[in-house]
Amino acid sequence: MKYVSTRGSAPVLGFADVVLAGLANDGGLYVPETWPTLGTVTTGSYAELAASVFVPYVGADIDNDTMLRLCNTAYSTFRHPDVVPIVPLESGHHLMELFHGPTLAFKDVALQLLGQLFDHILTQRNEKVTIVGATSGDTGSAAIDGVKNCANINIIILYPHGRVSDVQRKQMTTVDSPNVRTVAIDGTFDDCQDLVKAMFNDAPFREKHNLSAVNSINWARVMAQVVYYFEATRKMGGPIDVTVPTGNFGNVLSGWIAKQMGAPIRRLIVASNENDILTRFFDSQSMAITGVHPTLSPSMDIQVSSNFERLLFEMNDRDGAVTAEQLTRFRDKGLSVEPDQYEQWIAPTFRASRATDHDTLATIRSVYEDFDMLIDPHTAVGVKVAREFAEEGIPMLTMATAHPAKFPDAVERATGVRPGLPEHLSNLFDLPEFTVQLPNDLATVEAFVAAQAK
Ligand SMILES: *Cc1c(COP(=O)(O)O)cnc(C)c1O
Repeated sequence: MKYVSTRGSAPVLGFADVVLAGLANDGGLYVPETWPTLGTVTTGSYAELAASVFVPYVGADIDNDTMLRLCNTAYSTFRHPDVVPIVPLESGHHLMELFHGPTLAFKDVALQLLGQLFDHILTQRNEKVTIVGATSGDTGSAAIDGVKNCANINIIILYPHGRVSDVQRKQMTTVDSPNVRTVAIDGTFDDCQDLVKAMFNDAPFREKHNLSAVNSINWARVMAQVVYYFEATRKMGGPIDVTVPTGNFGNVLSGWIAKQMGAPIRRLIVASNENDILTRFFDSQSMAITGVHPTLSPSMDIQVSSNFERLLFEMNDRDGAVTAEQLTRFRDKGLSVEPDQYEQWIAPTFRASRATDHDTLATIRSVYEDFDMLIDPHTAVGVKVAREFAEEGIPMLTMATAHPAKFPDAVERATGVRPGLPEHLSNLFDLPEFTVQLPNDLATVEAFVAAQAK
C-alpha cells in the first residue's frame, strides 16, 4: 500500500515512512491510495480483529505475525476483557466504552498502538526520535503512556501551567521514566502549540534532534480507530447508526473509513459542543472559523477540525491541487463545497447537531437518574445528539470517549456524585510529580529539549 498527500505534492510513501512522518511535507495529510475492503471477521479477539484491519494498510512493511504481536501488546493495557465493551442505555441505544485504556480517554486506543509501531519501526531502522508535543489535556497523557517504555523514543510534552485539570496534569507528571519529560509553560495552550510549531520550523534544530510528532493527523491513529467500528458491527449486526462526539474529526473519519471498507454503518452523526464548526458546515455547506469558546467538554473545544481535510480530498475526487488551494484560502475566506459534492458525499451518510453546556449537564443527569450510570461530558454531548436522531428499527451506538472520573467537576455538578478514579489510578494523587516550569521562550525551551534529546 502506498500513501499520497491530500495536497498532492509530497512524495508518495509506504506505511512505515508515513507513520514516522506524521504530516506530509507539503502540509497535507497522508491517505492510502485506495480503500481496501475487509471480509467478515466474526471470531477472534479485539487484537486479532485489529491485525486483520491493519494488514492491507501496512503492506510489506511489517509482517502479519509481528503486527498481531504489536496489537496484542497495545490492547493488553486495556482494563476490560472486551477492550471496548458495549453497554445498553434506553431501548435501541447503546454506548461503546472507549475509555478503558491507561489514561481513561479514547485516545489510548490509537496511541497505545502508535507507541508500539514507532518502537518497532525505529528498532528495525536503528534510529531514535524525540517526540515533542503540546497538549491541552488528554493527548499528552495518552501519548506519554504509549511510549513510556520505548527505548528509542524521548518524549517531551508542553502544557499550559495552571490550565489543565488536576487529573490530567497528574497523569502526565507522575510518570517516572527516563525518556519522559513534561514542561509547564507560563502561557496558554496556544503558546505551547506555537513553541512546538517553531521548533519544527527550525529545520537545523528539527534535524539535529530528529523531532517527531504524534498528533491527531497521524495516519496510524486514524487507522487504529477504524477497528472499533468493525467491532461494533460484528457485535450488533447492521446496519447501525453511530454518533460520535467530535473535535478534530479524527474519530468520526475512522467511522467513515470503516464504512468504505464494508462495515454495515448507515449514518455517522457528528456531535459538537458549542464549538460547532462542523455542524454549521453540515447545515450550510460552508465552513468559517470563529474563536474557541471554552465548554464543559474541553477536548472538543477546537477551532478547525484538522482531519476533515481527508474527507475534503475525497469530495474533490482526490485532486490534491484543488484541496491545497481550498485550504490555503480557508483561514481568510472560509470554505464551501458544491451542491453535487454535498449530495454525493455528505447527505447520504452524515448528520450533525450540537449540545450546549446546559444540554450536557441535563443529559449527564438524566442518564444517572434513569440508568444509575455516570457518563463524562463528552459522551453526554454524543448521547444528547444521538437521541435527536434515533430512529425506530435502526440500532444507535454512541461512542463514550472518556471515563467520568476524568472530568469529575462537571459530573458532580450534574449529579451531586463525584466519580472515583478506577483502581489502577486510585493512588494518582499520592504520587510525586516530575515536571519543570519554563517561560514562554523558544530559546529556553529548545535548550531544554536539546539537553533531553542527547
Ligand atoms: C479528543 C477527544 C474527542 C474528540 O475526538 P476527535 O477525534 O478530535 O474528533 C472527544 N472526546 C474526548 C474525551 C477526547 O479526548
